[in-house]
Amino acid sequence: MSSLNKKTIEDIAVAGKRVLVRCDFNVKMEDGVITSDKRIVASLPTIKYLLGQGARLILCSHLGRPKGAFDPQFSMAPVAARLSELLGQEVKLAKDVVGESAQALAAELKDGEAMLLENVRFEPGETKNDPELSKKFAALAEIFVNDAFGSAHRAHCSTTGVADYLPSAVGYLIQKEINFMGNALENPVRPLVAILGGAKVSDKIGVINNLIEKCDKIIIGGGMAYTFFAAMGNSVGTSLLDKENIENAKNMMARAKEKGVDFLLPVDNVIGREYKEDTTFMRIYSDSIPDGWMGLDIGPVTRELFAKSLVGAGTVIWNGPMGVSEWENFAEGTIDVAKAVAEATENGAISVIGGGDSAAAIKKLGFEKKMSHISTGGGASLEFLEGKDLPGIACIDEK
Ligand code: ADP
Ligand code: MG
Repeated sequence: MSSLNKKTIEDIAVAGKRVLVRCDFNVKMEDGVITSDKRIVASLPTIKYLLGQGARLILCSHLGRPKGAFDPQFSMAPVAARLSELLGQEVKLAKDVVGESAQALAAELKDGEAMLLENVRFEPGETKNDPELSKKFAALAEIFVNDAFGSAHRAHCSTTGVADYLPSAVGYLIQKEINFMGNALENPVRPLVAILGGAKVSDKIGVINNLIEKCDKIIIGGGMAYTFFAAMGNSVGTSLLDKENIENAKNMMARAKEKGVDFLLPVDNVIGREYKEDTTFMRIYSDSIPDGWMGLDIGPVTRELFAKSLVGAGTVIWNGPMGVSEWENFAEGTIDVAKAVAEATENGAISVIGGGDSAAAIKKLGFEKKMSHISTGGGASLEFLEGKDLPGIACIDEK
């Protein structure tokens, strides 16, 4: 994948040009009020840079899941208002996506001004990547900039299709994701250690397979560990088990061995009676789970083992909590591994966190600032870790 070589906004001349910028303004809303403007704030560096260069910005995004028609509930109006406040200049909202209102406002734009299109998913062609709609987006502008990483794994008109008709570049947010995740995968400081956890092997087969080919060491925890236990012939009790993937898990371990990749699994476990926050629980020094019990976290010996194996890492890629970290009794494994990753980072390792639940867990546990990079795109980051080409990045011009 050549994502490391994509044009960025600093590689293109934008002064006096109309630039269509696909942002991620898919903010959390309740009753028409924005409850977190983090995503808008995160988009400011790209927007401010382009405005400072004298570009004429046509901003756009999706918001929620409207059904291909105007729906006031999903209007971008609150985003336009908040964006205007944050930028300290008016950002006019078009009444439509690519219609008369959008065209008129785009034609009136002056250097250093910005406008916002209505929710791109009001157009039924958007999620179908309809070339007719892509052409209409392209007709509004002279340059396309994609800065919506969280939507980059979807080939839609405003994320991908429009790049067929305009010169293009990525904004700072996507550039940062490419730098950290792309380098971690394609050009890592070694040793490269991957920590994988979370719920199901089936969700992560692509990620594990891709990482086995690239890593020096793979650490497995979380619910997926029990499918590997089963693959070794151990009992798993009532733990999460991906029956269809036991064979796959065997093959993965065999491949790791063949490649000389260290493959670490839990050696002790915190087990519970039921999948309930207040279930009876205990620690067992075993990698086999007794009948009537389920593995809900890695045990203390494993935490130490995993922490030790992170010492001296050059790059750490982490996806998936080590246990049911939403529940206090089963969060210790994730907390201790987070501490170990933080320490490795302090000692010079580059740490990259991918995955929606992983990012949320690390923020909630207070480790956000201690990691080199926490990816902003849940699904997109997983596809990136699988080594897939993301259409929203693949479509951008090379340097
Ligand atoms: P991400 O979204 O970061 O890719 P996943 O969705 O794969 O992560 O996994 C997160 C979920 O895995 C969490 O809800 C967590 O509770 C669950 N999980 C982790 N360990 C276990 C376990 N031992 N048993 C059941 N669920 C688990
Ligand atoms: Mg998830």
